[in-house]
Amino acid sequence: MKKFAAAALAALLSVCLFATALAYTPGTYTASAQGNNGPVTVTVTFDENAITDVKVGQNAETVGIRETAFEQVPMAIVTYQSLGVDVASGATNSSNAIINAVADCVAQAGGDAEALFAVEVVAEEEVVLTDCETDVLVIGAGGAGFSAAVSAAQNGAKVILVEKLAAVGGNTLRCGGAFNTYNPEGQKDIPMTAALKEAVEEVLAKENTSDAHAELKAEVQAQWDAYLASGSDKLFDSPEWHALQTLDAGDYIGDVKMVRALTADALNTLHWLTDNGVVWTDEVSTVVGALWNRSHQTPNVSGADIITALQANALAQGVELHLETKAEELIMEEGRVTGAILTNAKGEKVTVKASKGVIMATGGFSANVEMRVKYNGQWSDIGETMKTNNSEGATGDGITMGLAAGANLVGMEWIQLMPLNPVSGGGISGYVNSSLYFNKEGERFVAEDERRDVLAAGALAQTDKLFFILCDAEEAALRGRTEQVLGYMVSAGMMYTGNTIAELAQSCGVPAEALEATVAKFNEAVAADTKDEFGRTTWESAIDVGPFYASSFSPCVHHTMGGLQINEKTEVLDVNGNVIPGFYAAGEVTGGIHGTNRVGGNAVPDALCFGKIAGANAAAN
Ligand SMILES: Cc1cc2nc3c(=O)[nH]c(=O)nc-3n(C[C@H](O)[C@H](O)[C@H](O)COP(=O)(O)OP(=O)(O)OC[C@H]3O[C@@H](n4cnc5c(N)ncnc54)[C@H](O)[C@@H]3O)c2cc1C
Repeated sequence: MKKFAAAALAALLSVCLFATALAYTPGTYTASAQGNNGPVTVTVTFDENAITDVKVGQNAETVGIRETAFEQVPMAIVTYQSLGVDVASGATNSSNAIINAVADCVAQAGGDAEALFAVEVVAEEEVVLTDCETDVLVIGAGGAGFSAAVSAAQNGAKVILVEKLAAVGGNTLRCGGAFNTYNPEGQKDIPMTAALKEAVEEVLAKENTSDAHAELKAEVQAQWDAYLASGSDKLFDSPEWHALQTLDAGDYIGDVKMVRALTADALNTLHWLTDNGVVWTDEVSTVVGALWNRSHQTPNVSGADIITALQANALAQGVELHLETKAEELIMEEGRVTGAILTNAKGEKVTVKASKGVIMATGGFSANVEMRVKYNGQWSDIGETMKTNNSEGATGDGITMGLAAGANLVGMEWIQLMPLNPVSGGGISGYVNSSLYFNKEGERFVAEDERRDVLAAGALAQTDKLFFILCDAEEAALRGRTEQVLGYMVSAGMMYTGNTIAELAQSCGVPAEALEATVAKFNEAVAADTKDEFGRTTWESAIDVGPFYASSFSPCVHHTMGGLQINEKTEVLDVNGNVIPGFYAAGEVTGGIHGTNRVGGNAVPDALCFGKIAGANAAAN
């Protein structure tokens, strides 16, 4: 994929427009073309002379692979006004689907698609980083990095943002984009059930682990008493309850003040992101391991929606972005971090001095087998044989650089396994509300609304470390799967289906009677709406509308909870608890928030909230 810098973009666009001189009937057109897993739909907007916007819609492309294509190809088509753009590496079929669907739209708009395929994409002169000075240097162009860069630029700083890979986004790009926050407006219609009340009471009944925990619990207790007195039948929530649940889910290992800083600022960050171009749907739900109905999502249920918006924003504000530029070490002068030594896109060593600060936003270390084996204190085997769903960039570089600069590390032993790694390449829903997990014996084995470490341990204990997620036609429709997409997923072997539970069982190769009994019992629990034998409390609807679908899953390495210790201002702390001047960090490179087990949907707000804070604080130096 061709690289471009902000300054070159506008000029390049106008050159392309002259070169192509095509006329379109202005408007918005939609078309689909075959991708890897089925049709990919795009919506393309034209003015009289140009393609002004390409949006990818309905599709069943593989999460974790599709994102680079969805990010890069539409942007390249609009930038170069060409259909002869490069495909994204590793996502050829998804890329070609977008290109072919856009070609269809070009034809619908009265343009000449063939001519657009012939428009040569000339790689512009690469803007390679050289020795320089800036106000703020941000290392890592994922969610935390973009958030920090936008925020620092908005606060008046000159910003350089570097990314070691050829494409931006990191894990944030490939993530589901689920963002947990208390949000009275978004949650106002969600009912409060007896089972959820029980869940609150249980956490409030736990013993205090510290004064800070006791204080937080007292606040939640007061809110809870007031809620009960109000007689409300709608969901109870608050930033403090979100904080208490986060701490509880992480076995009270997290730093209370950091967790409170996160949950107190999450809604503000959601609004800040909206103001900066990120779109959220109205639905508030419970992503797997989220434990409460407070997960917000983007239209494509993808972090690519977040990265695309923040990248456009950053470039518009003059942030200088350099791809294939890897930070190697921090420069320390008299105890202060004053810059970094990097390898630029030509492989040359360069020095960037940053007068206001360096923000480390390099993500976690799930893709670094050696490092995860070294630090793992949680799982019996987390070596080569365990896959990861992370970006290849998640190699813990920021932790290594931070250590060398004297930073303290916290929680390094806690590594999250994602229970739901698709074995056959796809599935329907990562949402808890209406899904049922069953094993090869056709039996449930865990409460599907449990913590992720409990789900992963449960899954690892099943035959072949494998389990299925079952959902019905209603849930499939709710998650936007059309019949066409479902049909493709089944024919491609990504999903099993049956008009009855017995047929589905046969298709999955599990005992039909056992699965029928399991589903019947599940539906009884939904109707009763209380805690069931596994301890599940979150129920939405029965599984009773055929056809039924199931996909197979097994755990993989997903998130590293440990990293650089920071304070609420995102300043990095040394081993004595002192601030290392000029050094900030945000996102998965940091530790101390999620404890032993990260709540699903808490990492995106973590990266974006603390990225925003880091940018503002560094700019204010
Ligand atoms: C498949 C998947 C789905 C997920 N879904 C969700 C979800 O829905 N909700 C949720 O809350 N969490 C989710 N998570 C977790 C969440 O996405 C991440 O924790 C979060 O996005 C991390 O953001 P970050 O900015 O810290 O790191 P990243 O987004 O990973 O960005 C770090 C960037 O730094 C770059 N980098 C690394 N080293 C260097 C270096 N030396 N020099 C320059 N650049 C460097 C990397 O290449 C990368 O681009 C998911 C994770 C995965 C893998």
